[in-house]
Amino acid sequence: MGLNKKSVDDIDVKGKKVLVRCDFNVPLKDGVITDDNRIVAALPTIKKLINDGGKVILCSHLGKPKGEAVPSLSLAPVAARLSELLGQPVVFAADDEVVGPNAKAAVENMKDGDVVLLQNTRYRAEETKNGEQFSKDLASLADVFVNDAFGTAHRAHCSNVGVTDFIDTCVVGYLMQKEIDFLGKAVEDPVRPFVAILGGAKVADKLNVINNLLEKCDTLIIGGGMAYTFLKAKGYEIGKSLVDDSKIDYCAEMMKKAEDLGKQLLLPIDTVVTSEFPDPIDAPIETEVVDADKIPADKMGMDIGPKTIELFSDAVKNAKTVVWNGPMGVFENPILSKGTRAVAQALADTDATTIIGGGDSAAAANQMGFHDKMSHISTGGGASLEFLEGKELPGVAAADDK
Ligand code: AMP
Repeated sequence: MGLNKKSVDDIDVKGKKVLVRCDFNVPLKDGVITDDNRIVAALPTIKKLINDGGKVILCSHLGKPKGEAVPSLSLAPVAARLSELLGQPVVFAADDEVVGPNAKAAVENMKDGDVVLLQNTRYRAEETKNGEQFSKDLASLADVFVNDAFGTAHRAHCSNVGVTDFIDTCVVGYLMQKEIDFLGKAVEDPVRPFVAILGGAKVADKLNVINNLLEKCDTLIIGGGMAYTFLKAKGYEIGKSLVDDSKIDYCAEMMKKAEDLGKQLLLPIDTVVTSEFPDPIDAPIETEVVDADKIPADKMGMDIGPKTIELFSDAVKNAKTVVWNGPMGVFENPILSKGTRAVAQALADTDATTIIGGGDSAAAANQMGFHDKMSHISTGGGASLEFLEGKELPGVAAADDK
């Protein structure tokens, strides 16, 4: 996929109406935003467009209203918070059809540097189906389109892809640019050695990621629940550990592929086992450490052991690029989070470019306080996985090439 995309730095927006697809999909409780990180993250692009004299028309989805005007999923609270953060009014265009009389009038009245926020794009049923009419409606408001929502880049919706068919100039914002720069470069042209670390629950969720990264990286590390299917494929007894029997052949194939390609594939050599899955997930639980080939029949592997931590950390130490997606164990439980924490620590300690795919590993790194120590933490779980699969993301592809 061509990743050399035009950005907000490559265009002149003075006096122009600029439609910006943001990711304002913030958590809400009783109409109050409980975490405004996504709004804060969108500010650099928005401020740049304001300062350049654009008329800034923002849009986003919020939750899953499934094509209906669900009042609890209105973007009104986002408009209020954004206005505070920007220190200037943000006009909220509260149309149930998103592009309706309020939106049209608000845009009509805009002066250079003004900001309007449209209603939740998923109030329109066409949004997630990439229907033509809504794409045209959105495009009718603007001269220029900016996509700064990486979280939906792996989907072709009206507000990130369809709309680009009806607007001539379509570029990416700073958030998208950063995702492309880090994830794209890691996969397409990494500084070597390139170490990829995969974890999380299921092999089946990451089949294409494993396959693609094996080709691109120098060392592939597999931990978390998915490691046990690999261990079983090696002929080990894995007791009651998480396993996907339908993927044992696949794992064997990947191990063979690593050997054929001369790539290092690291699996756990020891593991923290328990008798049961903790219930609730963070309940205190008795653990024991055993070698990976000696898991008792009545136990389940729940985290990587200390020898594995050392093995994985050493591999990270020698890397120049590290990509990590998926926890090493049941990190929601403090007793079973040591492996995940140690991997986060290893990434924090290295001078390598460190990139964390979204989702649980991003949450774990944030929660453990390593946020500032990483080169890049992706904001999109699904989108970053598809990037790592080497797939073309429609939301990225739709932006103009440089
Ligand atoms: P994923 O959604 O694929 O990134 O997987 C994240 C989930 O995998 C977390 O909720 C972890 O608790 C779970 N997980 C990680 N390691 C294990 C394991 N050894 N056994 C069961 N679940 C695990």
